[in-house]
Amino acid sequence: MTAEQAVGPIDGSGTGRARCVLAPNPGMMTLDGTNTWLIAEPGSATVIVVDPGPDDVGHLERVRAAVAERDQRVAVIVLTHRHLDHSAGAPRLAELTGAPVRAVDPAQRLGPLGLSAGDVLTDGGCELRVIETPGHTSDSVSLHIPADDAVLTGDTVLGRGTAVIADDGSLADYLESLHRLRLLADQTGLRALLPGHGPLLADPAGVLDFYLAHRAERLDEVRAALAAGDRTPAEIVPRVYAAVDRGLWPFAESSVRAQLRYLADRGELPPGVSW
Ligand SMILES: [Zn+2]
Repeated sequence: MTAEQAVGPIDGSGTGRARCVLAPNPGMMTLDGTNTWLIAEPGSATVIVVDPGPDDVGHLERVRAAVAERDQRVAVIVLTHRHLDHSAGAPRLAELTGAPVRAVDPAQRLGPLGLSAGDVLTDGGCELRVIETPGHTSDSVSLHIPADDAVLTGDTVLGRGTAVIADDGSLADYLESLHRLRLLADQTGLRALLPGHGPLLADPAGVLDFYLAHRAERLDEVRAALAAGDRTPAEIVPRVYAAVDRGLWPFAESSVRAQLRYLADRGELPPGVSW
């Protein structure tokens, strides 16, 4: 991969203060690849890199070139969550640029600073506000750019399809996070969601409403599967996810386990269910 090569429709685009460098790791879970986001006020000498992506030298060099072509330097690297398709390149990019890595998970950090809800990072010359959005994973955050009315959503909201609840995630947390983003969309008039994978979403409120409706629908389908006698994720997945590509069924099992935990917490499980 060379710095001149355009690799996809979202590559090089974004909002006034957020620019995407698309990583060459397309796949069923990563869609077109991981979106690495460069955040900077126009004219700023410094940039925040959100989600360096996989440990791919060519990609990290493209990130460096995209920063250098505007006579900028990387001030800090920030992770939306710990999954390797977002985080694996962070140590190498930190080494290449000298920038620290800020993350919710202490194991992902390089340097003295963590990342918490309410933090406001100004290293790119504009505000980047940290919003707690656990659910996909326990350490997931979203990053609000008020000046662009945009939010970087990591894997909490994807550019296509819907997100998966990983085994360290929680459906209750996830629903709360979607409601938090939905409220922000109303309160601040959000105009764009910038996902960790896939294209920019120009109707944040509509997308979040769809996600919330989809989750409610899936829960009802799992309740119906339990009522029909299913007792394990392996039985529930083929019934509830019949329309979904079989290659995604292992990930669907994670989501079903999360839904069973959610129903168990609410005393809604019939006897004999295991996951
Ligand atoms: Zn991802």
